[in-house]
Amino acid sequence: MNFELPDTTRMIRDTVREFTKRELMPLESMVIRREAERGMRDDPLLPPEVEHELTEKARAIGLWGIDVPEEFGGQAFGMLAKCVVTEQLKHSIVHFVPPPDSPNLYLLKEQCKGAQIDKYLMPYVRGEKKSCIALSEEGAGSDAAGIRTKAERVNGKWVINGAKMWISNARRSHFMIVVAVTDASKGSRGGMTAFLVDRETPGVSIPTSYPMIGEYHPYQVFFDNVELDDGQVLGEVGNAFVPITNRLGVRRLDIASRCLGLAERCLEMMIEQANTRKTFGSLLADRQAIQWMIADSWQELEMVRLQVYQLAWKIDNGAKDFRRDGSMVKVQATELIGRVADRAIQLFGGMGLSKELPLEYIARSARVLRIVEGPSEVHRWVIARDLLKNGLPER
Ligand SMILES: Cc1cc2nc3c(=O)[nH]c(=O)nc-3n(C[C@H](O)[C@H](O)[C@H](O)COP(=O)(O)OP(=O)(O)OC[C@H]3O[C@@H](n4cnc5c(N)ncnc54)[C@H](O)[C@@H]3O)c2cc1C
Repeated sequence: MNFELPDTTRMIRDTVREFTKRELMPLESMVIRREAERGMRDDPLLPPEVEHELTEKARAIGLWGIDVPEEFGGQAFGMLAKCVVTEQLKHSIVHFVPPPDSPNLYLLKEQCKGAQIDKYLMPYVRGEKKSCIALSEEGAGSDAAGIRTKAERVNGKWVINGAKMWISNARRSHFMIVVAVTDASKGSRGGMTAFLVDRETPGVSIPTSYPMIGEYHPYQVFFDNVELDDGQVLGEVGNAFVPITNRLGVRRLDIASRCLGLAERCLEMMIEQANTRKTFGSLLADRQAIQWMIADSWQELEMVRLQVYQLAWKIDNGAKDFRRDGSMVKVQATELIGRVADRAIQLFGGMGLSKELPLEYIARSARVLRIVEGPSEVHRWVIARDLLKNGLPER
């Protein structure tokens, strides 16, 4: 057993750490201001020209296609390296993802075939096209098997009708991965199909957005008699559920990695503040109440980090079904950042609540993560169901 990161991953980690300090942290006050000022609008928190500049700088230092297989022009460093990259980037609140974003990459690289590779996968890998996933609906969030958007065969075409809700980045995506019912009698076991839908396809509209807590601002998407060819089917007809669930597993790992970075940032700030701030004649660092906040945060962070790295390692070593572990890291990491951000705010007092520091932004944005991509309650249920059915996994 070896708990050291591989040399290459350590080098990438150090490069990204430096990039985050040099390029992202100086943008934080702008992001905090833009988030406060945009109110109900859906303005991006990073102006597009700034995002473009960051993308070019990231590419110049090799921060690009980290987990993309070599056959698609990537660096093939794998999932563990990608988690470490994400963790380091999230030492800053500035949400910057060097393309491509892993979850849709994972799905596209497994499922794209024929002309789809050049039309969708490769531009996605190169960062020329953005995508989103349109699964959730008004009556089907946690219970995604209950979606009602349907795709029917009409005169040799697929025709999609329905409405999706809470779709992140819909307005900024070039194409969407849309999951629809193709055989209601089979439900999620053979009756759901994924489609690649260009955002400009006639019949697609994005009428409403939902201003939310923190940095989030997802959209409603309508499909009104949207006609598609067979070439727009992603994967096999009827068999979208398992690949989509695995794609969600990759997002859960991505979310967990983000939580690690944010939690470590909070902890670094807590240590610095405790070592400098005096009250009643003593440093905060000398107070046991404060020491316990720091000690608990570090222990919890280390435990979750091991879980996250272990799952990434399993995926790099060929794990195909990692639903239980994906649920575990999602629950543990999103609850971890909730606790650590809250302690950090408490330690900083009034300043912790102010927009002078990134802590209140972290606390608000992180709150979303216990619901999005499946609420904690559902993930605990998934874990328990697996253990009760299959017993404990071998160690
Ligand atoms: C900011 C944001 C971005 C999103 N982006 C996307 C996206 O890009 N694409 C997409 O398809 N979806 C997206 N979603 C949807 C998201 O995945 C769902 O909101 C989430 O899965 C929960 O579904 P729901 O909101 O319908 O809550 P519900 O399913 O109604 O659940 C509400 C609550 O009920 C409880 N609950 C539900 N089921 C159980 C159970 N079995 N046992 C115990 N308690 C339970 C939980 O406490 C849960 O929080 C996004 C959501 C948000 C908030």
